[in-house]
Amino acid sequence: MSQALWAEPARSQQVSLETLSAVALLGLPDDRTLERSTSALLQRAYRDGTGAAGPGIRNSFYRLSPEERVVLSGLHQARWSYARLARILGKTSAQVAELAWSARLYLISVPGQQRSVPHPTGSGRNAIHCPEYEPKRPWTQTFLDEETPLRDRPFLQEHLLACATCRQALSSCKQVYYAVDSLIPRIESREQEQVRVLQQVVRRSNGVRDPLTLSFWQSFRIFLERGDIQVFMTLGVVVLLVLAHRLGSPF
Ligand SMILES: [Zn+2]
Repeated sequence: MSQALWAEPARSQQVSLETLSAVALLGLPDDRTLERSTSALLQRAYRDGTGAAGPGIRNSFYRLSPEERVVLSGLHQARWSYARLARILGKTSAQVAELAWSARLYLISVPGQQRSVPHPTGSGRNAIHCPEYEPKRPWTQTFLDEETPLRDRPFLQEHLLACATCRQALSSCKQVYYAVDSLIPRIESREQEQVRVLQQVVRRSNGVRDPLTLSFWQSFRIFLERGDIQVFMTLGVVVLLVLAHRLGSPF
């Protein structure tokens, strides 16, 4: 997520390490750690005033507000729900949907032109039965984000089979969805290593908080990595070498 907020990779990695290290120490469940870290990253992004910079300057994604970038990255890359994003942003799910739609329309718009997506106008043969099309958060977007309430899905699927107007609306929304999808920064294979480091940070913080969750070898490795232990062991080796030398000498 920090990659969505800081275009510059080194800065992004540094901020995510710092934030995750601090939040992981709170000892929250993994889900809450993720949400708290994202909220903290977002606050920091607003303080830093992150925008299009460095390698991200050509990607219009970085011209969106930090909130909009978190929403789109959350939806397209992490497949987060509106509810989770709402908790992170301190908004309602409806506000998250509106933020997502305006950000998506912005990304596909040509400068100087207002991009509108065709939708059911009420003049179709089945229009009276068509789902209500809210221009600020259309049902087509809700459907593609897999946020359509369970109880409405059978109606919608059946309706789409019968109504060409709504099929057309959904098809237009799909074009928006996939055009936006291609603009979302992805985790490259070289960055998988960074993700592994972040996972270690969380595991280690959990271990510091609760040593019982560590295996013997994990504890042993952390023990060996401690600076004071390394100094002590070096001194021990020197003493052993001196003793061995003295025992081996004729005096
Ligand atoms: Zn319809």
